[in-house]
Amino acid sequence: MSDRYAIVGNPVAHSKSPWIHAQFARATSQDIDYGRLEAPLDGFAATVERFRAAGGKGLNVTLPFKQEAFALCSTVSERARVARAVNTLLLETGFGDNTDGVGLARDLAQNLKVEFRTVLLLGAGGAAQGVVGALLDAGAERIVIANRTVSRAKALAERFPRASGCAYDAVRGERFDLIINATSAGLSDEAPPLPPGLLERGVLAYDMVYGRDTPFLAAARRAGARTCDGLGMLVEQAAESFFIWRGVRPQTRLLLEKLRGA
Ligand code: NAP
Repeated sequence: MSDRYAIVGNPVAHSKSPWIHAQFARATSQDIDYGRLEAPLDGFAATVERFRAAGGKGLNVTLPFKQEAFALCSTVSERARVARAVNTLLLETGFGDNTDGVGLARDLAQNLKVEFRTVLLLGAGGAAQGVVGALLDAGAERIVIANRTVSRAKALAERFPRASGCAYDAVRGERFDLIINATSAGLSDEAPPLPPGLLERGVLAYDMVYGRDTPFLAAARRAGARTCDGLGMLVEQAAESFFIWRGVRPQTRLLLEKLRGA
């Protein structure tokens, strides 16, 4: 029988992860079966346990469960410890890792070939938590985290050097090389309440949401900024999870081109 993996979250119906992992498995001759698990909002741990008891080998975790996944692990990687959020579970050992940060950093460096010194990170949920450390490692000299719930932005920033947290209004009049939308606002066709003037020519506006033209990306395009969705991050973080589970690193470039319909 194939080794079983899945993505667990709520919602998960839109996830491209099953297709991506099936492509990785084919390309690397790994015998895996990768599905979707929608967990009730109050039933994450029970859903994970049922999957493990039925022989499941590993899980990817998506919103809103990354912090709960972190709490569930018996051991975690250094980058998951720093993030306090887990998106990759190895069920046999209870080990948790976070591949979001390395996924974003690889997309920015290898696929988009973008250089940046200053970053505005919108959102302070599981996805934002996972990428602050990697952005600093990738050379960010200053990261400002803006979030609707300001206390979450401040609490996240306090854990890192060269980072600060604030309300959206507080970044009015500032300039950043890279503005990353790590909120889930785009999933409901909303934009985070960014003050006017920040999205402009010379800025890269990156939305972690993928597969749809979000209001954030549309506004950035209208303002003349360079734009990118989260598809590259998705593929790169998936490749890192696949490597953790299977010990084989799949190629990502052709798959990303295929997904983008190039
Ligand atoms: P999460 O833990 O639920 O956090 C959601 C974040 O979005 C919070 O900061 C929340 O602010 C903010 N938010 C939600 N609706 C908003 C709105 N209408 N206006 C302003 N802020 C809003 O979710 P997550 O795990 O961080 O995921 C965030 C997004 O990133 C999701 O869309 C997910 O699909 C995407 N993602 C993509 C990748 C990829 O590989 N491309 C990887 C990870 C995540 P409050 O704190 O004020 O509630």
